[in-house]
Amino acid sequence: MLWQVFVLRQRLYNAALEQRIWAWKQNGVSLTFADQCKELTELRADDPEYAALNAQSCQVTLKRLDLAFQAFFRRVRAGQTPGFPRFKSLRRFTGWGYKTHGDGWKLNQGLKLKHGSMRISGVGEIKIRGEARDAGEPKTVEIQLKRGRWFASVTQDCEPQRAHGTERIGFDWGIERFGNPPTACGGGRRPRPRCARFLTFDDGTGVENPRFLRKSERQLKARQRVVSRKKRGSKNRRKAVACLGREHERIANRRTDFLHQQSAKLIARAELLATEQLAVANMTRSARGTVEAPGKNVRQKAGLNRSILDGAPSAFVSMVRTKAAEAGCVLVEAPTRKIKPSQSCPACPRQQKKTLAERVHRCACGCVLPRDQASAQVCLHYALALSGPGTGPGVEGALPPSKHETPSIAA
Ligand SMILES: [Zn+2]
Repeated sequence: MLWQVFVLRQRLYNAALEQRIWAWKQNGVSLTFADQCKELTELRADDPEYAALNAQSCQVTLKRLDLAFQAFFRRVRAGQTPGFPRFKSLRRFTGWGYKTHGDGWKLNQGLKLKHGSMRISGVGEIKIRGEARDAGEPKTVEIQLKRGRWFASVTQDCEPQRAHGTERIGFDWGIERFGNPPTACGGGRRPRPRCARFLTFDDGTGVENPRFLRKSERQLKARQRVVSRKKRGSKNRRKAVACLGREHERIANRRTDFLHQQSAKLIARAELLATEQLAVANMTRSARGTVEAPGKNVRQKAGLNRSILDGAPSAFVSMVRTKAAEAGCVLVEAPTRKIKPSQSCPACPRQQKKTLAERVHRCACGCVLPRDQASAQVCLHYALALSGPGTGPGVEGALPPSKHETPSIAA
């Protein structure tokens, strides 16, 4: 039943797209969302299949097409060359949504907000699995088909409850991967790559990279090999690709899970968090660089390990940001260029460049600390100076305010 509704929605989407193209070609008219909603009413009067579908949620499908067009025109105006909104095959179509709880769908949550069932008009009662974090009034739902499985993503109106701790914590990333130093007896063997830590705190403790990383890397490689052995265009190859895709999805889920857990733990511990601002451009640029500007430390940065955790810092920080706002905890993202966490000494004002291979901070003042710990401390000191009560305007005045320098204090 879900599948039949899915097919009808996909047809509706494509028909609406065709109608827009046709109206433009024949009459030079741009159809609007409102025009198409009127057409929808007529369609529902003629076609019993569509009459059986929930009217409001059909509008959601039309709205989605409208948004695709809006995005297209916005990017055209911005001088970019976006792809025209395209027809969606059943494989590309993702699903549909409902706008109002009680209109076309109804959620019956189980005990303790766990599992339960969902009623969808024209389909019936469906058991659902999953858990809501906070109690609240259901608002909208998205029914999605992903890799042969059905998902319902419900948004609720709720007051998130989250408590923060009392510690003040600076943290730094230890994402990069580095090899062990070559040993005398190593012979021709390449040193085994090692995963660095995921996070290092200012007191020297930290969070290790998740153990699933190594395992998934092996599995991905194995599945990739299976794919490359199959003949192009063959049925077996398609199966192997699907298998590889599922593995990628599994890893992505575990990664998200790990990041959620770690960010929640951090908020539960701290009232003030400090880290360095992420340089997004640096993180997305390929390690190899270009011919004119070859990248540094290509070998250290390459590898599947990195691809698995690619984007993890920005995902993690955005989770911390949301959770900090929920809990009323302060997150300070220190401007990297200004305070240079990896070059500055946490004990004195000296600065000294380090290469990526230098894992220890050694300063003339006698301060010796692991590199990541030192930079976590530098960030923490910066945050304390910004938000601490004992600091006069001298310190704050020295730091011109900008969007990133103001601590994000949740109301
Ligand atoms: Zn020093």
